[in-house]
Formats: sequence, structure tokens, C-alpha cells
Amino acid sequence: MAKLKLALYWAAACGGCDVAVLDINDKILDVAKLADIVFWPIALDFKYKDVEAMPDKSIDVCLFNGAIRSSEQEHIAKMLRNKSKVMVSFGACACFGGIPALANFTSRAEIMQRAYVEAPSNENPNKTLPQTVTKVAEGDLTLPKLYDNVLTLAQVVPVEYFVPGCPPTVTIILKVVDALATNSLPPPGATIASAKTLCDECDRKKENKKISKIYRTHELIPDSQRCLLEQGLLCMGPATRGGCGLQCISVNVPCRGCFGPPAGVIDQGAKLVGAIASIYEANNDDEIARMVNEVVDPAGTFYRFGMSSSLLRGKRPQRT
Ligand code: SF4
Ligand code: SF4
Repeated sequence: MAKLKLALYWAAACGGCDVAVLDINDKILDVAKLADIVFWPIALDFKYKDVEAMPDKSIDVCLFNGAIRSSEQEHIAKMLRNKSKVMVSFGACACFGGIPALANFTSRAEIMQRAYVEAPSNENPNKTLPQTVTKVAEGDLTLPKLYDNVLTLAQVVPVEYFVPGCPPTVTIILKVVDALATNSLPPPGATIASAKTLCDECDRKKENKKISKIYRTHELIPDSQRCLLEQGLLCMGPATRGGCGLQCISVNVPCRGCFGPPAGVIDQGAKLVGAIASIYEANNDDEIARMVNEVVDPAGTFYRFGMSSSLLRGKRPQRT
């Protein structure tokens, strides 16, 4: 069998998804047997012009991690889409917006103001902000445009497969590699993870208990056998797709939701709010207010990974 041509790219990302690929350890040699890597900016010195010179659809598979928040990232996503037969949203940022999409709670102008003017480490008396074009004696210096909103990969180009996780687990990456090796990828549009919720896969004891207090993780050492949510810790299991191997739960840490919504759920945050509200036990308005206030940073908690793909999408512009 001819070797596959594989590309890996990172857009608005932390690098964790690329490191996760290396975390498959010696199995990376199987990947090397299976595929020639034709583009991987974090690891190998390919240039954009090398990819631009490739014929369309000459890359078999592109694993694209990171969200889209600049004109450069959009340009490369579109270029890789044209060059690739199969485009994979790899990791929570590419699939749902991920941590970078928490910036959707603010705006480009507010980010610029904070980063370049207000941050205490700045010395910028003229309040100079980065420009997309700056004229200097030698010509024009250009920078990519920072967008107002962080987008998922599928909001910019068509995508065949979704591999969730922050980052995807080694088991899931090996499943993808195996499916490529045996030409047994599922039908396009599939998410390569479980079809169930994490709660469906979790074997902790569930007692259908109501909760009357929400704890932050540093306030409580939970019982390692009982459901974390029923102990008052905000566990995202009821609104999160399974398939991660219960990595957080098995070390007594609540799920944070990085596998995104399960099949059939559009808005992970809204689903979670509903699930938690259904087990709240509060007898009057004061108790309800106290419990609501115990959820520190509700937007960032319920939409930690899914802001771009949620129904909210981002902060609404203020009406004037
Ligand atoms: S999904 Fe997680 S590990 Fe991957 S780039 Fe985003 S923040 Fe980093
Ligand atoms: S809420 Fe969390 S701890 Fe409880 S069953 Fe679901 S995944 Fe397990």
C-alpha cells in the first residue's frame, strides 16, 4: 500500500494537541510507516509555500488543531482544505472553539486595550496598537487581522471528522491511526469518540441525591466511589460525550467537558445548566440565590470548551 500523505497544523492552539500526537510514544513509528508527514509546523521546517505548491487533494489527511481567530488561520485552513482529501477537526479548540473561544465573552477592541494599553507590564505611552499594515522605509510590514470572534474549523471550511478532547487521548489518536491504516474510517461527519454521555460510562455510585451546596474542587476531598456531582462538585458528565476513558474521574477530578456535547445536544452549557438545576435542593429565593452565586464564573464553567459552537456564540454587541 502506498504511504499516505499526512499534514498536521495548529491554529489558535496551545500546542497540547501536537504534543498529544507525540504522546503515542513508539507508536509514532507506526505512523511513520503508514504516512509521510508533508506539513507539521510545530515539529518540522516546512514553509507555507511548500504546501501552496502541492496539487489540490494531494494530502490524504489533515489533522487540524486549534480554533480560527485570525486571517492567517482562516487562510491556512482554506488552503489545507483544498489540498486535503480528508479534513479532521482535531481537539476541542478545532471542534468547539475550546479555551481560546472564552475570548468570545469580550471583543477584539477590549482584548487589544487590555493587552497593549492596560496590562501593568506594558510601557506604551502612545497607546500604540498593532496594525495589519505598517509602513516603514523598506516597505510595508503586515500582520494577520485578529477577528472579533473565535470560530471552530467547521465554521470556516467543510470538515469530515471530529476528534474531541483537550487534548485528544492517546487511545483515540491510535483509533484514528488504526482506522487510517485499515481504511476503515466511519462515514464522514462522524465524531471519533463514544456516542454516549460520560455519565453513561461512569461507574461511580449514583444515589439520585439532591444537592444543597456547590463546592469548588479545592474545598472538598470527594469520596472516590460516589458521583462527584451528587457530592456538590460541578461535574460536566451529564452533558459531555464519553470516550475519554474517564481520565479525570478516575483521579477524583470532575469532568470539565472537553469532549463537547453528546450526540443530539446542540448547546452543552445549556444542557448542563438544566441537569444541575434538576438536582438543586433549595427551599426559598435566598437559598436559590446562594447556590447560584456558589457557581463561580458560570459562563466560563458551563462553556469552557464550547463557546464557538454554542447557541450563544459570543458576547452580543451592545445596543446604542
Ligand atoms: S484542545 Fe486543548 S490541548 Fe488542544 S490546542 Fe486546544 S487547549 Fe491545547
Ligand atoms: S456526574 Fe460525573 S461523577 Fe457523576 S456519574 Fe456523571 S461523570 Fe460520573
